[in-house]
Amino acid sequence: MSRAGPDRRAVLAGVGALAVAGASLGASGVAPLYEALDDIRAAFDRQPVERLAVDGGYIRLVIADGAPGLDRALVQAWIHASARAVSTYFGRYPVPDHALLVVAEPGRHVGHATTFGEGGAVTRIRVGTEADRAAFDLDWVLVHEMVHIALPDLPRRALWLQEGNATYVEPIARALVGRLAPAEMWREAVDGIPKGLPDGGEVGMDGTRAWGRLYWGGALFWLLVEIAIYRETNGKGSLRNALRHVNRASGGNAVTWSPERLVATADAANGTGSVGRLYACFATERVAPDLAALVGELGVRGAGGGVLLDDRAPLAGLRASITTP
Ligand SMILES: [Zn+2]
Repeated sequence: MSRAGPDRRAVLAGVGALAVAGASLGASGVAPLYEALDDIRAAFDRQPVERLAVDGGYIRLVIADGAPGLDRALVQAWIHASARAVSTYFGRYPVPDHALLVVAEPGRHVGHATTFGEGGAVTRIRVGTEADRAAFDLDWVLVHEMVHIALPDLPRRALWLQEGNATYVEPIARALVGRLAPAEMWREAVDGIPKGLPDGGEVGMDGTRAWGRLYWGGALFWLLVEIAIYRETNGKGSLRNALRHVNRASGGNAVTWSPERLVATADAANGTGSVGRLYACFATERVAPDLAALVGELGVRGAGGGVLLDDRAPLAGLRASITTP
């Protein structure tokens, strides 16, 4: 996430609990947890920095405290593959300078990360020293964090817009570069989005702290925006174009915008009004669309634990365009 605290999809997956217990001891005997932004920034002043060239800039990589046992070649390949996914979605890497602190800990997992914007994009991500190539290939967390750096920071009330955007865009970015099959991407969406629907008493999204609402409710918003832009522009505009425009106009997450400015900028990219209209609904009103009908229109049909993609569905062209570079 972009302000403070770990991404909760990772915590819920069970890897977050390892973060503190697994930290190694530094020379002082105090575990360098790199939880606070000041500690993370200090690592870039005091420890060796590698510059990894990405499309439109570079990633400054610090592997915290040297991390003996961590396979650096695997780590660098994973960073490059994640950066290529995000660069493909946004047309280039979202910021010219991204500071990335990799903190090793015992275990086989990859992930559990926090991204900050103030003072420039910086991410801390934890990686198990026993993580193998398959674990790196399956990771989604680094791509999720790289999507966060693309958009301006927002006030706390609109955190659902940020988490929803990263949740929605991350699998698409991986699909664009062949790291995730489109059918699997849509299966995950069909599984996940119902977790974002409002409970009995819930109304608008603004200010919500419920993880399902923040991540999957926010992702549903961006899927509906995707469909609305497609319809309003007869297929000529796209959410991808809108988000590229927001990225270029803002310069990424080092600035804070109002959500109203973000949606107005997104609308301006395609000459639409639907982003602002949908935002106003989601922010203040209860929105619970018929998800079965929605995915049916996209041509995503459940089949034996997976999904089948139907190219005759009304929005099949949109669905295919989402995962086409
Ligand atoms: Zn996040």
